[in-house]
Amino acid sequence: MPSPSQLAVPRLALNDGHAIPQFGLGVWQVPLEDTAKVVSAAFDCGYRMIDTAAAYRNEQGVGDAIKASGLKRDDLYIITKLWNGEQGHDSTLKAFDASMAKLGLDYLDLYLIHWPAPRLGKFVDSWKAMIKLQADKRIRSIGVSNFYTSHLQRLLDETGVTPAANQVPLYPGYQQRELRALHARLGIVTQSWSPLGQGRYLDNPAIAAIARKHAKTPAQVILRWHLESGLVVIPKSVTPARIQENAGALGFTLDADDMAAIATLDRADGRLGPDPDAFTVPGA
Ligand code: NAD
Repeated sequence: MPSPSQLAVPRLALNDGHAIPQFGLGVWQVPLEDTAKVVSAAFDCGYRMIDTAAAYRNEQGVGDAIKASGLKRDDLYIITKLWNGEQGHDSTLKAFDASMAKLGLDYLDLYLIHWPAPRLGKFVDSWKAMIKLQADKRIRSIGVSNFYTSHLQRLLDETGVTPAANQVPLYPGYQQRELRALHARLGIVTQSWSPLGQGRYLDNPAIAAIARKHAKTPAQVILRWHLESGLVVIPKSVTPARIQENAGALGFTLDADDMAAIATLDRADGRLGPDPDAFTVPGA
C-alpha cells in the first residue's frame, strides 16, 4: 500500500528556531505489545507526531513502528520524556541514550523533563544535561512538563535557558489561563496533556451543542478548541476509527460564540493528575 500523505497540521514556532506540529498522538497507557500497531495506525491516518515517555514503557513499540513505516525522519516529530527516577546530570545523559536506543533514532525532536519532582532537588541538573545534549545536536528542542511558574523561574535563574515547551494538563474544564499567559511572555509553547480531559467532557451539553451545530463529534470540537487556542494537542486513542476521527479536528473552524461557550467551562479545581510540587516517583 502506498504511504498515505500526512495530515496538514499547522506548526508553532519554538523559541530555539525549530517548529512543532500542533497535533499528534499520545501513547500513555498503551501497552507495549500494542504500541507499534497503534502508532502504525496513526501513521496510516497521516499523523507524524508521537508523544511517548520512558515511564510509559512503550518507546520500543514507537521505535518499531517508525522503523516499519519507511517514513522520512524529517517528516516525523518524536517527543519523549525523562522519568523522575533518572533525574540528575549524568543519569539524564544515560536515560536519554536508553530512550534513543529504544526509539531507534539518531536525534530527538523534543525531550521533556516529565515532572519537576522538586523534593528530589535535581531538575536543574537534569536541565543542564539536556542543554548539553541540545548543544551536541542530539536533541532539536528541550522542554519540561508539569512545571509550575516557580519551577520555570528556577530554570531561568540558574541556567538562563528557557524551555521550548511546557506540557501540562489542559482541557475545557481546566484551561490554565494564568500559566499560558506566562508562557506567552516567556516564549514557551503550551502543550495540552489529556486534551480530551480523559473523555470527561465528551458528553458535556455545551460541547454537544457546538458539535451538532458543525456536524462534528464532541472530540473533534474539543481538539479544535485547543488548536484555535494556539495549543499543541496529543489525544490518545488505541482505536483506529477514533484516531481517524480525532484528525477531523484539523478540517473546520469554531466561531467566537463557540470559543466563548467553551471558555465558561473552566474550573479552578478541574486539575487531573497529581500536584507537581508533591509528586516524585510513584510510591516514593
Ligand atoms: P485524553 O484526554 O487524550 O483522553 C484519552 C481517552 O479519551 C482515551 O482513553 C479514549 O478512551 C478517549 N477518546 C479518545 N478519542 C476519543 C474519541 N474520538 N471519542 C471518544 N473517546 C475518545 O487523555 P490522556 O491519554 O490522558 O492524554 C493524552 C496524552 O497526553 C497521553 O497519551 C500522553 O501522551 C500525554 N500525557 C502526558 C502527561 C504528562 O505528565 N506529561 C500526563 C498525562 C498524559
